[in-house]
Amino acid sequence: MVSLYEERFDEILINIEKVRLEVNQHQIIKIIAVSKNVDSDAIQNMYNIGQRAFGENRVQDYKIKTELLNELPLEWHFIGRLQTNKINALIDLNPTLMHSCSSLEMAQEINKRLHVKGKTMNVLLQINSAYEEQKAGVLPEDAFNVYEKIISTCKNIKLKGVMSIGAHSDDESLVKKSFQITHAIFKKLESKGAKYCSMGMSSDYCLAVECGSNMLRIGSTLFK
Ligand SMILES: *Cc1c(COP(=O)(O)O)cnc(C)c1O
Repeated sequence: MVSLYEERFDEILINIEKVRLEVNQHQIIKIIAVSKNVDSDAIQNMYNIGQRAFGENRVQDYKIKTELLNELPLEWHFIGRLQTNKINALIDLNPTLMHSCSSLEMAQEINKRLHVKGKTMNVLLQINSAYEEQKAGVLPEDAFNVYEKIISTCKNIKLKGVMSIGAHSDDESLVKKSFQITHAIFKKLESKGAKYCSMGMSSDYCLAVECGSNMLRIGSTLFK
């Protein structure tokens, strides 16, 4: 049976490839299928056409879906705001990558609990590169120092790079600027072991690739 998502997925891959080849032929770009608004059947359908990495933003939904799909070899990414009282539950789910660590304090809270459990977690530092009040994340000018501080004080956290949400604007130049800011921080952090620059969603993934993203979080346009 042809999955109902196959055509959409192909279209998105073609769009990404076009930009990727213009920017950097050697760049590998990972796609996280953001499944926060769909059920486990939809994830299964996406799995059937080859997708393995999925993103959730609520710990409770994430737990339910992994339990329903535990036979499948999936990668789970946590991309949402994390409340302190959900940290332990998230750790117990063993996420492949936690994208949304938004402050030094949060890193230290997560680290404390990881230490107690004798575990580690791969984490990205979220950057508020558009300086938007409603968004979480460290400010660009603080990012490098906070990143270093997490490395030196949070031994159970394995920092793997940065995550950002593009500026909330119809003005493409503003979105681009926010991606460029994030990417510049990422480049600087490569010397500290940063591997992933997670930016780009349904409305702006091509622009994100143009600006150097190597990890896209695509939800609505993929699952529609
Ligand atoms: C929902 C969400 C996405 C995906 O957004 P779409 O516009 O549906 O592609 C990506 N990143 C984060 C942090 C999200 O919350």
